[in-house]
Amino acid sequence: MAMTTEPISLLGIPLDANSSFMFGCAAGPGAIRTSLHSTSGNHATESSVAVVPMLDDVGDVEVANERGSHANADAITAAVAEQLAAGRRVLSLGGDHSVTYPILRAYRDVYPDLTVVHIDAHPDMYDDLDGNPLSHASPFARALEDGCMTTLVQLGIRTATHHSVDQAERWGVTMIGARDLDRFDAASITGPIYFSMDLDGLDPSCAPGVSHHEPGGLTVREVLDVIDSLPGPIVGADVVELNPTRDVVDMTAMVGAKFVKELAGAMLQ
Ligand code: MN
Ligand code: MN
Repeated sequence: MAMTTEPISLLGIPLDANSSFMFGCAAGPGAIRTSLHSTSGNHATESSVAVVPMLDDVGDVEVANERGSHANADAITAAVAEQLAAGRRVLSLGGDHSVTYPILRAYRDVYPDLTVVHIDAHPDMYDDLDGNPLSHASPFARALEDGCMTTLVQLGIRTATHHSVDQAERWGVTMIGARDLDRFDAASITGPIYFSMDLDGLDPSCAPGVSHHEPGGLTVREVLDVIDSLPGPIVGADVVELNPTRDVVDMTAMVGAKFVKELAGAMLQ
């Protein structure tokens, strides 16, 4: 795949209307931006690339606070498609995880052979949740139905119900639990990669600022190692489910900013 000299577009998606348990993720993009530019750190990745100036912050998608809104989903797809049409790759900040389905709809039209690597405590493949097919518990069901990816690999899962396991079998999803992370075979991935990071995939001890605390999760280092191991070009990514109202001394926002930096560095390689 040809390298682009275009900067990476940083896109905020302040939508939490499709959350199910509590709200607050709409403030996620702002909190991650604040941590990204905090003078407590610098602009360098762990590979010594000054990556923050190479991010072009294109602002927030305008979304209404409306549950199950197709207009919101369409606005997100259009905003991402606009960046992709300009030759950009997009790093999105959630928002609840419902944002990933409309993002992937835009990617489908540019990258027909996409592999999605998805880190999460939850499989997010429910047919619907409480009657909302655009719920934050459903984005990967919708994306699979719409052919948004050829391969879905889920890592860190530790809440799979029978329904979710059935969905994984039905769609040929590789679901790797938190206790089985060493089964992840990055080298088996071919072609362009989209990386979706639900911060509740981490253990709550290193990421308390999420709505759904699910103990037994990944460490920050384990996630960074997964990112480092990805072989193909990373053409897009999102960091979602930061809920600043639950955060402790902004530590989860800082973790989100760390992932933004390292993902951007990996995307620029
Ligand atoms: Mn999720
Ligand atoms: Mn989750």
